[in-house]
Amino acid sequence: TAIKIGLLFGGRSGEHQVSIKSARAIATALETGENQEKYQVIPFYINPHGIWLEPEKSAQILASGTADDSQCQGSKWQFPSQCQEIQVWFPILHGPNGEDGTVQGLLTLMDAPFVGSGVLGSALGMDKIAMKNAFAIAQLPQVDYIAVTRDEVFSGPCVFPKKCDHIDETLGYPCFVKPANLGSSVGIAKANTRQQLEEALDMAAQYDTRIIVEAGVKAREVECAVLGNGQAKASVVGEISYDADFYDYETKYTDGKAQLIIPAQLPQNIVNKIQEMSLKAFHALNCQGLSRVDFFYVEETGEVLINEINTLPGFTALSMYPQLWEASGVKFADLVDTLIDLALNS
Ligand code: ADP
Ligand code: MG
Ligand code: MG
Repeated sequence: TAIKIGLLFGGRSGEHQVSIKSARAIATALETGENQEKYQVIPFYINPHGIWLEPEKSAQILASGTADDSQCQGSKWQFPSQCQEIQVWFPILHGPNGEDGTVQGLLTLMDAPFVGSGVLGSALGMDKIAMKNAFAIAQLPQVDYIAVTRDEVFSGPCVFPKKCDHIDETLGYPCFVKPANLGSSVGIAKANTRQQLEEALDMAAQYDTRIIVEAGVKAREVECAVLGNGQAKASVVGEISYDADFYDYETKYTDGKAQLIIPAQLPQNIVNKIQEMSLKAFHALNCQGLSRVDFFYVEETGEVLINEINTLPGFTALSMYPQLWEASGVKFADLVDTLIDLALNS
């Protein structure tokens, strides 16, 4: 009999819409070809308020690709009864409240197997300060950075200017200011001057209590996909090219603004280095199942700097993660099948 997959999508984050798209692609892959007999997809939509909808309504949202969230009935404390039948969960939730260990904690508490990283890997991957500290201990090369708290930004003239002086002197310009716990470039600003730095810190502090400021680099942006548990493998390397100051929200989500180049045109030794660093980062954070690891490649010096790891990367048919595996010889349907297998046998 078919294995019952709980497909968890939507979610309480800015990447809600992307999650619906990812879930549609995964559901299609599970309902066609050889997967069709093996699996039964039972969808659960989490609305922007955090309420879980039952499978019948969730299936309608999955089919149409959009949800009417205006009438939000139900309680956050109530889960649809069909949850009890699920044999393995596939949370395809991007960003906070899904990719960050919260849902992983709930499923662990329920003793339910699920695709992807557990609490620790997910939480470390989401918080850019914790992530970069873990990379530093693993001796993975990266840009210099300074952690800032919301309190420091709003503390007024005794603390804030000193902190900015320290950033000026240590990192210089341009620097990048980021809320520590978001994704999709939300709340991220590039600062070229002291005034822009102060404004960017003020904006980031509206989003998060934890902020990170990084030295800016001029580099190519390359990404590598990881699949597996203890014996995880790295894919071919892809590149993102775009015509914008940096890879911001608009560039990420406007059709035609960014191009994926797979495989990236890189010297073989650089490809090897990126793949090695990807696996090292994956294990340093105790990730499982899947991750997309993003890098800066400074062509002039040959330096490869790790930028971040995404433990539940975008998973539409056109997303970088499945495309990197496609180019590495793993078809979308087999990728999804492998991920479920990894969840059941970990
Ligand atoms: P997110 O998790 O939201 O994707 P990133 O840390 O990847 O956040 O930053 C988003 C984009 O901002 C990057 O893809 C890159 O274009 C630019 N960027 C971020 N940090 C730096 C940096 N230190 N130097 C140069 N560009 C950067
Ligand atoms: Mg990210
Ligand atoms: Mg990124």
